[in-house]
Amino acid sequence: MKKIFAIALLVGVMISGAVDVHGQDRICGNDLLMQETMSNPASKARMEAYFEQYDAENKLIAEQSARAASKGTGTEYYKTVIPVVFHIVLTQAQIDQLGGTAGITARINSQLDVINEDFSGKNADISGVPASFQPLIGKANIEFALAKRDPQGKAKWGVVYEIKDPSFTGFAAHDYSVKRKSLGGSEPWDNTKYLNIWVTLIKAGGTSQGQVLGYAYNNVYALQQYGDANYGGVVMHYLTLGRRTSILQAFYSQNTDKGRTLTHELGHYFNLWHIWGKSTPSGQKSCIDDDGIQDTPLQEESNFNCPQTPQPNCPSAPHPGGEMFMNFMDYSGDECVIMFSQGQVDRMRTETAPGGQVHRPTDLPAVEYNNKVEIGPNPSTGKFNVYFYDKYDRLDNIIVTNFYGQVVKQIAVTDQQQLNYNIDIAGVAAGMYMVQLHFENGTITKKVAIQ
Ligand SMILES: [Zn+2]
Repeated sequence: MKKIFAIALLVGVMISGAVDVHGQDRICGNDLLMQETMSNPASKARMEAYFEQYDAENKLIAEQSARAASKGTGTEYYKTVIPVVFHIVLTQAQIDQLGGTAGITARINSQLDVINEDFSGKNADISGVPASFQPLIGKANIEFALAKRDPQGKAKWGVVYEIKDPSFTGFAAHDYSVKRKSLGGSEPWDNTKYLNIWVTLIKAGGTSQGQVLGYAYNNVYALQQYGDANYGGVVMHYLTLGRRTSILQAFYSQNTDKGRTLTHELGHYFNLWHIWGKSTPSGQKSCIDDDGIQDTPLQEESNFNCPQTPQPNCPSAPHPGGEMFMNFMDYSGDECVIMFSQGQVDRMRTETAPGGQVHRPTDLPAVEYNNKVEIGPNPSTGKFNVYFYDKYDRLDNIIVTNFYGQVVKQIAVTDQQQLNYNIDIAGVAAGMYMVQLHFENGTITKKVAIQ
């Protein structure tokens, strides 16, 4: 798999964006970029090679996931926590429109609630998933938490303000200046440790279909496009921030007031594409182009608002449930998108695993233990020890996962004096496994090969 990911890193290109037309609210700037990419023969060839690789990887991921499920292990992902920084790049009038700094704090908190629910399958409206798709619901178990320390380790909440003067007219869609202080934006915090989200005014228009509401790309794309991985992250229109709690709050539209713009964009950040296809722009139809995910039905074109169930999908590969228009990666309105599929979740978690495109951020203090822990024997037959050379504290649990992050064994640590833990996962499929030591302040990951 390492080789596969290395190739993916070389050719991988991804970007997305959401474009909004009132009434048809979730339209993505991914279309825009994809059209640019496909109009250049060299980048088109690179993109197509990447897509081929993407599909092949997903087939392997689905097989691995099915094997793990059949062995009764690996049906659940361990919780991974990603520290988030919000950059508020707005005029004072726009800040006031959101209720001032108190209003923005409340909207950030409600936004974090939304993405934490959506990425763990705990959103209340998930019960609305039609029966035929319920077995396909995936829970990524990715948690997003406001950063509590800045990159220098100083205590600081992950909210940064860059107040623009009243003449500010917004940043054009895909304009990375919002991420550079010298160009009028806000400098990202180290993107290998934080997820950066810029909340700003995106200039009107952006595509033939209307207003861009957000766009996202990961560090790999940022490195290729701008020569700096530290510009990966999400940019979102300030009027889509958070979930409506009062009729008085300003939101872009009714279809975008439940915080799902960010859920959708984070899906792109974790390397998902639109559910109706990777390269078909919204407004066009194709039953050949696919999203590359094994368990989502083949879908001809994007959906808007709230379609009726079932919505028949492509006749060449009919699914009993029809189109999965309630998926976060469709364009249906906020109140209609309520699930990720298991296949999408498997793909996202691959990106947060070693070798993936998203650096999994870790807090620093746990790292001091890194050279004081040994796994042995390694390789082993499934019985091995986790041995600490030295005393430690604040260790919560030890979790063994397969390569994709699915939990194989979990041990709650109750005695902070115990130096040696015997782990037994004999019987699992041969391969590389991860031993994670979850401390209060971060995680150490060690690899162990099982023969
Ligand atoms: Zn999109």
